[in-house]
Amino acid sequence: MHELSLAEEILRTIEQAVHGQGCSRVREVGLEIGQLAAVDVDALTFCLESVFKGSVAEGARVRIDRVPGEGWCLQCGRPVPIDSLYAECPRCGSPQVQATGGRELRVKDLWVE
Ligand SMILES: [Zn+2]
Repeated sequence: MHELSLAEEILRTIEQAVHGQGCSRVREVGLEIGQLAAVDVDALTFCLESVFKGSVAEGARVRIDRVPGEGWCLQCGRPVPIDSLYAECPRCGSPQVQATGGRELRVKDLWVE
């Protein structure tokens, strides 16, 4: 499952971030997930809970910030908000919109003990 490998990658990122900091537990994990990232947030949250078990992040609260999708409309020559990778321009209806933002998936911040 796609979300399971993402969850494992997130745990690796967390473990690397807290490594050598002498912290015993991660209380909260803040994730940033773009609206255009092909991620099922519910499935990801579920997978995170299971991969966190037995790790430094066991029981950590997961907070997810969605980043809105942004594209560049070739017709309008300006940035436009989009909600899918294949969205048409909300201003002129052109299908020639290149996604420029909203595909990120990253660990934004960590609260540790
Ligand atoms: Zn347009």
